[in-house]
Amino acid sequence: MVASAYDDNNIFAKILRGEIPSHKLYEDEHTLAFMDVMPQAPGHLLVIPKVGSRNLLDADPDVLARTIPVVQKLAVAAKEAFDADGVFVAQFNEPAAGQTVFHLHFHVIPRKEGEPLKPHSGVMADGEVLKAHAEKIKAALAL
Ligand code: 5GP
Repeated sequence: MVASAYDDNNIFAKILRGEIPSHKLYEDEHTLAFMDVMPQAPGHLLVIPKVGSRNLLDADPDVLARTIPVVQKLAVAAKEAFDADGVFVAQFNEPAAGQTVFHLHFHVIPRKEGEPLKPHSGVMADGEVLKAHAEKIKAALAL
């Protein structure tokens, strides 16, 4: 099967262009991190490279090399912010693997012992709650 091309009408490309809002956590020349609107646990965030690729399969290795340190930075901050026992980092490639938005992204989800994950792309969180959670993560990033 021929792989699909990157389509810059996806929702994360729109967030990058400022066409739709997001609760931003971190931004540098190459990378953006923001809250997931349908969190699977409190503090669920996404890290995306600014350069467009559908997913890991078609990504430039140099882009991956710049993105992973940001995933690490956000994972450490989210763990601290939510006093978590661990952090789940996930990344899906193509619909068969569960991908629903076709711009490469890494899920970073703080986990607490005994607290199950909510379903993937389940329920939209309250905007005020997401804002408060974003503030906690930004405070931890500043430490
Ligand atoms: P995927 O299924 O592609 O790995 O993950 C896409 C993620 O994007 C899901 O966790 C979903 O909750 C999140 N998402 C979908 N639409 C939006 C949106 O408009 N804004 C934000 N911040 N996250 C979104």
